[in-house]
Amino acid sequence: MKVESDFLVIGSGLAGLYFAIQAAKHGKVVIVTKQEIKESATNYAQGGIASVCSEEDTFAAHIEDTKVAGAGICHEDIVKMVVEEGPDVIKNLIDWGVQFTTSGDGDAYHLTREGGHSQRRIYHSDDLTGREIERALVAAAKSDPNIEIYEHHTAIDLITASKINRKNMPPNRCFGAHVLDNQKGTVRTFISKITLLATGGAGKVYLYTCNPDVVTGDGVAMAYRAGASIANMEFMQFHPTTLYHPQAKSFLISEAVRGEGAILRRKDGTAFMEHYHKLKDLAPRDIVARAIDNEMKTHGDDCVYLDITHKDPASIKKRFPNIYRTCLQFNLDMTKEPLPVVPATHYLCGGVASDTNGETDIQHLYAIGEVAFTGLHGANRLASNSLLEAAVFSGRAYRHAIEQLNSSSFECPEIQEWDSGTAVDSDEMVVVSQNWDEIRRCMWNYVGIVRSDKRLARAMSRVKLIQEEIVEYYWDFKVTADLIELRNIATVAELIIMCAQMRKESRGLHYNIDYPERDDIHWKKDTIVRKQF
Ligand SMILES: Cc1cc2nc3c(=O)[nH]c(=O)nc-3n(C[C@H](O)[C@H](O)[C@H](O)COP(=O)(O)OP(=O)(O)OC[C@H]3O[C@@H](n4cnc5c(N)ncnc54)[C@H](O)[C@@H]3O)c2cc1C
Repeated sequence: MKVESDFLVIGSGLAGLYFAIQAAKHGKVVIVTKQEIKESATNYAQGGIASVCSEEDTFAAHIEDTKVAGAGICHEDIVKMVVEEGPDVIKNLIDWGVQFTTSGDGDAYHLTREGGHSQRRIYHSDDLTGREIERALVAAAKSDPNIEIYEHHTAIDLITASKINRKNMPPNRCFGAHVLDNQKGTVRTFISKITLLATGGAGKVYLYTCNPDVVTGDGVAMAYRAGASIANMEFMQFHPTTLYHPQAKSFLISEAVRGEGAILRRKDGTAFMEHYHKLKDLAPRDIVARAIDNEMKTHGDDCVYLDITHKDPASIKKRFPNIYRTCLQFNLDMTKEPLPVVPATHYLCGGVASDTNGETDIQHLYAIGEVAFTGLHGANRLASNSLLEAAVFSGRAYRHAIEQLNSSSFECPEIQEWDSGTAVDSDEMVVVSQNWDEIRRCMWNYVGIVRSDKRLARAMSRVKLIQEEIVEYYWDFKVTADLIELRNIATVAELIIMCAQMRKESRGLHYNIDYPERDDIHWKKDTIVRKQF
């Protein structure tokens, strides 16, 4: 059975919901999302959202901090645009009911500071900012009669003109997506005038990640298969400090903890960041992650320690209630003892190439939020700039999509329903779990914080072999959510390795021991890949 709409939004984090709430004023919006609506990286964001608002701060300073973190390849026009549109999106979020933490004295918002920021400019809701944003936006979306929400639905592939063989319909255009109903196991066709990919990043491509399970790079993989350009996939950000505990599932210890004065120490208590950067513990994330990786490898330790015990316990509990409570569940009291921490994948700077309105090079297909590559982050994302980017581009995509809707004709060709052919139910799910594990371990070991040509070549040959097995399996058996995700993480792993192999230098988040220096003469540019049909 077909589902038709004006706007199909794939994903229900900040990027998807910010668009949906506004688009619903102009037509029918359908949101499909893999699990419960709130399950998204957005829901786990702790630190906050960056935007200039105090008198001590300036747009110029925020622009400069973003460019410094981006290591020379941020797109300057995009940085300026996003920073300057920040105050408007903060206002919208507040209007939709998001409650940011205020300072004790009056109504002014309490701004915090994070690594790489020269000023306090992060709006937050205690240390659960994402949960508060998601709460308010989900409530707004659920109360809008023009928005239909399909939870537990996984988009499989985009429906494009080239896919349905409409070669007389130049250029390539998007008409919606085929979507699996996870609970019934059936595939439905979702047809739409405008399609928004808001599927988030790809942290799960690696063994250790602080991303939730839904973050498997689906949007990047779908867009690549549909023929869109993909850029800068080598820049995967590793968060330096996730809790090192067997049951903690890489729980993230926000950068804001260092912003409030926490110090990284070796097992013997020695502080070490002064040996790596003049900003010490507030150095950009890539430097801190690489420093920790080096300390662990040099001293043979399983983790390092994050120490905030010199601060007043009451203020720690007030500022970081969620982190404090979660650590206590693992018998760690951060007011009394340093926390054991290790790096884990956190944020994908690359993604589906999109323009200033979030539109990809496939017509009527927008990519917004972490799935997108906009040029804002360059070779490394400045903390708390991602929620900002998602909201700014979501607003721009909305305005552009409305213009398109009013000015273009949307003739949609006859689209066939999904055909499972002779596929049968899988008899060996172990193939899926084995390949999942193998890809993630291979990426962690060979394509992690420190890379080399040899490790990248080894990783590519492993991933290619696994892909052959997946393709065979994919066509023989009925699709399941696990199989869709496996196919996607394999594609994204291949794209990360391809981009990493192209970049013959070290810059920002990409460090290759065979090219340890930054090469501004040859590599001050993006790596762009596109599927050859
Ligand atoms: C622990 C943690 C802390 C963070 N802290 C901060 C912070 O303080 N500040 C900041 O700026 N950034 C932070 N980030 C990053 C930030 O949260 C994300 O970049 C941002 O929320 C991405 O928003 P999004 O809407 O693009 O994607 P997400 O919020 O990840 O949403 C993606 C949505 O797409 C759905 N989806 C995915 N694939 C499919 C599919 N095939 N079919 C249907 N639905 C699909 C998912 O279910 C989900 O609903 C943090 C991230 C994490 C993990």
